[in-house]
Amino acid sequence: MACIFCRIVAKEIPAQILYEDDSVLAIADINPVAPVHILVLPKQHIERIDSPQAPGCASALFKAIAHLAAMYNLTAPGFRVVSNAGQAGGQSVDHLHLHLLGGRQCSWPPG
Ligand code: AMP
Ligand code: ZN
Repeated sequence: MACIFCRIVAKEIPAQILYEDDSVLAIADINPVAPVHILVLPKQHIERIDSPQAPGCASALFKAIAHLAAMYNLTAPGFRVVSNAGQAGGQSVDHLHLHLLGGRQCSWPPG
């Protein structure tokens, strides 16, 4: 069975789609941890940021991040982008995604 994000890409499972182009989908996180919490993912199933295919979609993901940051007025105040990889990294969905977090002051270290 396809992974949950592949099923969202295929529109088999509903999601709040905030941006879409040929290779990228951005959805609202179902469990937001910031006023703006968007998941930006390649439509292609790539497991994580260090997968061999990940560099091929990096520029499309980065462009989508810039577009969404501007769309949600995060450019001036700033924002955070996170990609969890593997168990110790806290990854719970094994389909590469960037968390775009904004609308509040982020702290460091992230925990
Ligand atoms: P990670 O733990 O980095 O793999 O992030 C996975 C994220 O996907 C979590 O923040 C979840 O809240 C989010 N998530 C899981 N299922 C869905 C869904 N069906 N729609 C939107 N976000 C989801
Ligand atoms: Zn997938």
